[in-house]
Amino acid sequence: MNTQKLPHIVIVGAGFGGMEIARRLANAPVQITLIDRHNYHLFQPLLYQIAIAGLVPSQIAYPVRTIFRRQKNLTFHMAEVTSIDFESHYIKMNGSILAYDYLVLAVGGQTNFFGMSTVEENSFKLKDIESAVSTRNHLLKMFERANREVDADRRKALLTFVVVGGGPTGVETAGALAELITHVLAKDYPQMDLKDVRVLLIEAMDHLMGNYPNELRKATVDLLHSKNVEVLVNTKLSDYNGRQITLGDGTQINAHTLIWTAGVRAAELIDQLGVQQAASGRVRVEPTLQLPQHPEVFILGDAAYFEDGEGQPLPMLATVAQQQAKVTAKNIRRILKGQSAEPFHYKDPGLLATIGRNAAVAHIWGLSFSGFIAWIIWVGLHIYRLIGFRNRLVVLINWAWDYFFYDSQVRLITRE
Ligand SMILES: Cc1cc2nc3c(=O)[nH]c(=O)nc-3n(C[C@H](O)[C@H](O)[C@H](O)COP(=O)(O)OP(=O)(O)OC[C@H]3O[C@@H](n4cnc5c(N)ncnc54)[C@H](O)[C@@H]3O)c2cc1C
Repeated sequence: MNTQKLPHIVIVGAGFGGMEIARRLANAPVQITLIDRHNYHLFQPLLYQIAIAGLVPSQIAYPVRTIFRRQKNLTFHMAEVTSIDFESHYIKMNGSILAYDYLVLAVGGQTNFFGMSTVEENSFKLKDIESAVSTRNHLLKMFERANREVDADRRKALLTFVVVGGGPTGVETAGALAELITHVLAKDYPQMDLKDVRVLLIEAMDHLMGNYPNELRKATVDLLHSKNVEVLVNTKLSDYNGRQITLGDGTQINAHTLIWTAGVRAAELIDQLGVQQAASGRVRVEPTLQLPQHPEVFILGDAAYFEDGEGQPLPMLATVAQQQAKVTAKNIRRILKGQSAEPFHYKDPGLLATIGRNAAVAHIWGLSFSGFIAWIIWVGLHIYRLIGFRNRLVVLINWAWDYFFYDSQVRLITRE
């Protein structure tokens, strides 16, 4: 097939949005170049499972080249896009340039520390494989150090784990960490007194799980308490030096671990583009997800600022990115046929988060429920959404093993 004259679509980002649009243009009369700085697609919702030694990276990431092996109209480049010339229609990546007819920016987000440099330097984050593996290594090292520490105060500081951010990621991490300690590490360190261990979840607002209904916020706190997680709401973190946490009211807590899940902002590349940015650095887009003044550029997912009918920005969720990708693929096809682009409308598929074994909260079809049923739905949905049959099977076996034997396979401390 001669692809020379076909419109060239460049998609930056092989995350949830980028993957979805590339797939949806599989049979379109276009030539696609998909670019990502990694050679894999990462299923970020399960990153916390890497950090708490539940899964290994290859179980939640999948090579892009394997995913698109059969898609003839797609070429993949592993490269970092560093700048874009919107007037001349080309992107720069790793020293070379690439021209486009249509550009889709699905570059996602990065952790937002809101300018708190000491927190950024000393805390752990969950945003990519490297940060999740570092977190796992650190958590396990704290137990090794605590096991040989003779000073009681120092031992307590080593065994105090603070998670900041009461959204789904913070809640899932705190719950899973508490379970790792009580179900698994307690067996590995039989001499250790678990009374020395603290898992704290800190949230600046007066409630956890911001966009969940009240009854589920309360259920979340109850489930966390049942797993011995201390929940501190209305509590702001003001500083962290790697050894001591300082809260907004001046209270200090000695802790060698702080996991920061309290903020996300648009990816670094967005700041270089000279476009109008809204809250969290996201790009303000047209209702059709096009960049103002540049109808050949589409921005979607975490990088795009898009308000719902009530004037609230859409959350940074995989479901938003995927739905936006679907509409963008349709709009590219429409434009190629000489039709106008249609506006995007988000259909909320519901909310779902797990707090650990047999414990989750769900708000689906207007109904709120928590506990075992919600947990089964969470497990089923996450297995289904993983890419690759092998990954699904391996994760299912892993989770079943851990469930029945109260075990966790990946307790390795590796060199980074
Ligand atoms: C720990 C965690 C848990 C989450 N849990 C959930 C959940 O339970 N449910 C849910 O719906 N959402 C969840 N999310 C959010 C969800 O992962 C994001 O909303 C979603 O990934 C956004 O999709 P995206 O396509 O915009 O970006 P991403 O999926 O982040 O993809 C962006 C891609 O762009 C690439 N990239 C960035 N900059 C460049 C560059 N300059 N050059 C080349 N490539 C680049 C990145 O490598 C990445 O592959 C979670 C996120 C995290 C971090």
